[in-house]
Amino acid sequence: MEGDIERVLISEQQLAQRVDEMARDIAACYPEMDPGLVMVPILSGSIIFLADLIRLLPMKMKLGMITVSSYSGAVTESQGASLKMDLNIDIRGQHVLIIDDILDTGGTLRLVRERLRLHEPKSIRTAVLLRKPSKAPKDVVADFVGFEIADEFVVGYGLDYDGHYRNYPNIAVLKADRYTTG
Ligand code: 5GP
Ligand code: MG
Repeated sequence: MEGDIERVLISEQQLAQRVDEMARDIAACYPEMDPGLVMVPILSGSIIFLADLIRLLPMKMKLGMITVSSYSGAVTESQGASLKMDLNIDIRGQHVLIIDDILDTGGTLRLVRERLRLHEPKSIRTAVLLRKPSKAPKDVVADFVGFEIADEFVVGYGLDYDGHYRNYPNIAVLKADRYTTG
């Protein structure tokens, strides 16, 4: 796996430090409240971020899951977000925090927010680990953002290319020939 990496953009240590800061910001935003908080990770890219983040949060919470796909197979351009598996938990009257790996064109977040609103939660906020500012749309904003990155395709810390590299601990760019050969 290491041999496929061109360059590390964000190291494991930088990720840990920033996720810790994000957890503090998020905790400050949700003081002990009733009803509780529901985390809704967008699968599968957000799983590592989710696992690290929620273990740093002190409040009681439930986890819901929703699966959206915009890249299938060996591609690095979004093909438009589509719902693969709907929310598996009741969020009516609850505070919801959507967790995603990266905000790019905004199609994924827009779709998920529209879906979740149908269930009439009390509030919806969003935390994303990464944001590509060059494409970040005006109307789709995240409440909590880890890092701004340049407009290049990244892998690691949950993010995949053609299903691989989710377990790579840093955020990185692959060697150019790895993208074309899949
Ligand atoms: P959007 O719908 O905002 O265009 O894209 C968000 C989704 O596309 C993310 O949840 C992620 O799954 C995927 N995505 C966007 N940029 C990248 C990237 O650089 N690398 C990877 N692995 N996935 C990306
Ligand atoms: Mg995703």
